Amino acid sequence: MEYVVVDFEWNQSPYGKNTSNKRLPFEIIEIGAVKLDENGREIGRFDQLIKPKVYKKLHHVTKSLTGIKEKELNKGKPFAEAATEFMDWCGDDYMFCTWGNLDLLELQRNMKFHHMERLLVGPIRYYNVQKLFRLFYDDENNSSSLEYAVDYLKLSRKGDFHRAVNDAEYTARIFSMMDPVEVEKWYTVDYYQNPKRRKDEIKLVYETYFKYISKEYENRETAMADREVRKTHCFLCGRPAVKRIRWFVGKNRAYYCLAECPEHGYFRGKIRLKKTDEDKFFVVKTLRRTDESGARLIADMKEEVRQKRQEKRHREGTHEG
Ligand SMILES: [Zn+2]
Repeated sequence: MEYVVVDFEWNQSPYGKNTSNKRLPFEIIEIGAVKLDENGREIGRFDQLIKPKVYKKLHHVTKSLTGIKEKELNKGKPFAEAATEFMDWCGDDYMFCTWGNLDLLELQRNMKFHHMERLLVGPIRYYNVQKLFRLFYDDENNSSSLEYAVDYLKLSRKGDFHRAVNDAEYTARIFSMMDPVEVEKWYTVDYYQNPKRRKDEIKLVYETYFKYISKEYENRETAMADREVRKTHCFLCGRPAVKRIRWFVGKNRAYYCLAECPEHGYFRGKIRLKKTDEDKFFVVKTLRRTDESGARLIADMKEEVRQKRQEKRHREGTHEG
């Protein structure tokens, strides 16, 4: 197994969000990748500028962040050609590694825009090195930048950040410092190409939590009415975990619940509804082990939501009267 540590630079509409192409809000302008063998040694590099098709002018943030000029981009290859070469270069037996969870999403969205989504069939299993860095090194800090991690690990700064192949190299160096046995436990699944039918649904079991990605639904209500969605079970022993607090709408329109396994204690349930590019819905449910204080937080959140609703009802009542 080889590792393809990849990074993309992308551009957006220079004239603001409301002038952007909905099917391609971020257009990839550079692909950079470093290939590692199973021992974390570099065995290859990919570095390619892309000639933009949608946003020919660079957004000022892209320009200042990357230092790339329009003139250079015009010498780049069209996306279809570059992406095809890149996928060929990746080979057949590799795992993607990225810094954060956006790169593979944008790659797939760009491929879809160019009608070449067949080139990379999802869901994609990969390593999010940013997530691994937070897990292994950095409990206290919330900074998530690659630059921060490079300094934290006292790595030498070789090239400018925010150029694809440089960022890929920094990410690769961080990744190759990690314990492969630990790394393997914490893989991520990108579900931009989300499951459509029940048989394609994704269920991931980690040491401390369980993640479920459902099939598609027409709307939020049908999703939340599905028993498979509402179900809570202990991912450690497989027994049903009894709900202590039923699903309720909490912060940021997510649903929460509290369940308990007689043997393994409390679980915090969370459901987020995701909208696809085609305006369908699917569910991402997590069940995470928690303790008494975690259980109390859920109870508090439910109470807070209830009070707010009551206040709102009261206010509206007063207006009517
Ligand atoms: Zn259990």
